[in-house]
Amino acid sequence: MNRKEFLKQSAALGIGLPFLSSLLSSCGDDVQLPNSFDVNFSGNVIVIGAGSAGMMASYLLQQHGINYTLLEASDNFGGRVKKAGDFADFPIDLGAEWIHTDPAILAELINDPSQDASIDIINYRPETIYVWKNNELKKRNFFSNFYGEYKFKSTTWYDFFDQYIVPSISDNIMYNEVVQTIDYSSDQVEVITNNNTYTAERIILATPLTTLINDRINFQPSLPSAKTEALNGVDMPAGLKIFVEFSERFYPDIVIDGGLLSYVTSEEEGDKAIYDAAFGKNADANVLALFTVGVQAKEYTDLGSDEEIFAKFMGELDEMFDGKASQYYVKHVVQNWTAEQYIEGSYSHYTDYSTRPILGESIDNKIYFAGEAYAPESDLATVHGAGISAFRTVEELLKIG
Ligand SMILES: Cc1cc2nc3c(=O)[nH]c(=O)nc-3n(C[C@H](O)[C@H](O)[C@H](O)COP(=O)(O)OP(=O)(O)OC[C@H]3O[C@@H](n4cnc5c(N)ncnc54)[C@H](O)[C@@H]3O)c2cc1C
Repeated sequence: MNRKEFLKQSAALGIGLPFLSSLLSSCGDDVQLPNSFDVNFSGNVIVIGAGSAGMMASYLLQQHGINYTLLEASDNFGGRVKKAGDFADFPIDLGAEWIHTDPAILAELINDPSQDASIDIINYRPETIYVWKNNELKKRNFFSNFYGEYKFKSTTWYDFFDQYIVPSISDNIMYNEVVQTIDYSSDQVEVITNNNTYTAERIILATPLTTLINDRINFQPSLPSAKTEALNGVDMPAGLKIFVEFSERFYPDIVIDGGLLSYVTSEEEGDKAIYDAAFGKNADANVLALFTVGVQAKEYTDLGSDEEIFAKFMGELDEMFDGKASQYYVKHVVQNWTAEQYIEGSYSHYTDYSTRPILGESIDNKIYFAGEAYAPESDLATVHGAGISAFRTVEELLKIG
């Protein structure tokens, strides 16, 4: 059974994606990260986008002694890895939160035996599990038997990069550099930002797919038509997270409200889970979170303002928990990934996965692509998948002289 079939069968059982990784690891999707190959390139590289993929690509270029510059549009690194450090008595992942594979991947990404990669991880296995169906909470605790997932115990995905990856690359990151034009018509690629013009022999584009889908970068010459046509087989649907602190805990470990696998199974429902964000974290604060992607997320993001989005969520919680949400409310934070400048959505959702190799194909040994959307199929749409794609892209770029 391949991963997709496995996920479909699991979907039929109502088991959600965030909880499947340990089971998935038995589906034969082991990834070997390339870290030993002949380096035949010695020119300059520009990496665009300081998200997981761009940071990892820069880190690997640094390890290979290559000159590079990392251009980031916003004023911070991380992209869809983002942290609210002082919201509660534990740090909150406003974007990626789960480690969707064997946590051994963390040491593989660090790729440096001299670093102590012993990171405190929790086995995320919720016990009180409900589904919200026909305006009723229904207990489904037996799902717990199928769950197996990982999270950082007292840190976040952001802290992982901050601690292990960024120290080696921080001198080469240029913030507030919004890439507007990439001119690859001559030997040197010219990258024009809102502030400057940079040149290099090769570039790695590690921005979200939305920069291509929404034409945020002007390519000279235009991208090959095969690539622009391939964009029709993928999108980056709406995505949202909300964290709410309450003075009392009145909720179970998780409530699944609708789907949790639509982007894998191509169902139209979208994904939505309401979960105890403090689960296993040694925290005193009561923090409940909403994670939603796709059609269900769009119902919120279409509302526009964070106030309206939050009011909708609170209304739903009050309905589910007999007004207790309003009664015990302390504070909240809304992270609308659709409205986030330079991101504009959640993560890649392929309706036609056969287009992925075309999308990820480099152009003229000058433009290379890295990011979650170019990861192996079993690792798509994840942080570690973005990292794996960076390993593969850097290998491809450095092998060709
Ligand atoms: C709500 C939500 C929950 C998620 N949960 C999980 C999870 O639990 N586990 C997991 O593994 N993954 C999760 N993911 C997915 C994960 O966050 C992404 O797959 C991963 O972070 C993507 O990394 P990336 O480097 O490909 O892109 P990004 O992180 O998007 O980085 C791209 C960077 O490019 C920059 N950029 C954009 N345009 C320009 C420009 N013109 N010039 C210069 N820079 C530019 C952006 O500012 C950004 O920093 C989640 C995502 C969302 C939205």
